[in-house]
Amino acid sequence: MEDFKPSRRYLLQGAAITAAVGFAAPSMAQAATATATAPLRNPQSGFPKPPFTEQSQPWPGLAGSMSPRPDHGEHSYQGSGQLVGRKALITGGDSGIGRAVAIAFAREGADVAINYLPAEETDAREVVRLIQDAGRKAVALPGDLRDPEFCRSLVQQAHQALGGLDVLISNAGRQHSFDSILDIPDDQFDWTVKTNLYAMFWVTKAAVALMPEGAAIVYTASVNAYDPSKNLLDYSMTKAGIANFSKCLAKQLADRGIRVNAVAPGPFWTPLQVSGGQTMEKLKAFGSDTPLKRPGQPAEIASLYVQLASATSTYVTGQVFGASGGAGQP
Ligand code: NAD
Ligand code: MG
Repeated sequence: MEDFKPSRRYLLQGAAITAAVGFAAPSMAQAATATATAPLRNPQSGFPKPPFTEQSQPWPGLAGSMSPRPDHGEHSYQGSGQLVGRKALITGGDSGIGRAVAIAFAREGADVAINYLPAEETDAREVVRLIQDAGRKAVALPGDLRDPEFCRSLVQQAHQALGGLDVLISNAGRQHSFDSILDIPDDQFDWTVKTNLYAMFWVTKAAVALMPEGAAIVYTASVNAYDPSKNLLDYSMTKAGIANFSKCLAKQLADRGIRVNAVAPGPFWTPLQVSGGQTMEKLKAFGSDTPLKRPGQPAEIASLYVQLASATSTYVTGQVFGASGGAGQP
């Protein structure tokens, strides 16, 4: 299996930054005086790009079985104390975008609870270890979000185990490709809407009741919210719903002092895409239709979530932020 490995030059430069800043929360002096040079990176070269080899996994798929393995920032993400003391729950935190956010949050100083499906335990174990390696508390809470009772107990368990809850990353998602509306079985439609919209509502409702002033919620929408792929009819509808939900909720929660935003990724190299999310033809050329001519790696979007969760973004609420290789909206 081919692994994605950052170049030696990039790693060496990254090591220099680690030495200067460290993974632990920096003191004020460190934060003000970190002077190591961050490596310049050409966003088009040095990353996995199409054509990709044919591959498919049974849903929900494992990051550990993908070729090349996605880069979630395991070897590259450098924290700088932006989330010290935060207590965060991340759904879909075992793999893909959610795993990259979990790694970034832990290295920024947050304790992190992740939710995932029992079938994803091997991916989740790796994330737990990475959070602990960053010196933070890791809480693993497997279970199926299509069950409203589980959604409510997930939030309660995260709140109890972390000793509070001030960041919610509602990120779990279901995407299945169907060429025609005539091919979408009712139970598949229900599956997508339950995962992407109902679970988001159930988890959010339970979380808001427990969250303090200053808390932040971030949803994962998609470019499909604005420019739907024709093979993702039900999925795209739910992603538009997530973007809209987050904007409306931001208005409601302003008076409670809670900020709400969404991230709208373009094509990212994650298990969702190799476990029924794309046709094989699209998977082989994945990301080639963007100006960067490649898919994003999960590590390349994590910093958006960090910024939206951080207290530096106190005037940022009700927005959707894109990261899509130069194509798509917003
Ligand atoms: P991923 O497969 O790594 O993550 C999706 C996660 O959702 C899974 O790991 C799983 O734990 C969780 N999940 C799905 N159904 C669940 C259920 N019933 N109960 C509990 N957990 C469940 O893929 P990803 O691409 O990182 O997906 C994360 C989010 O990003 C999703 O909302 C997806 O729609 C969104 N997104 C992905 C892309 C992309 O190109 N990969 C683009 C735009 C948006
Ligand atoms: Mg997964």
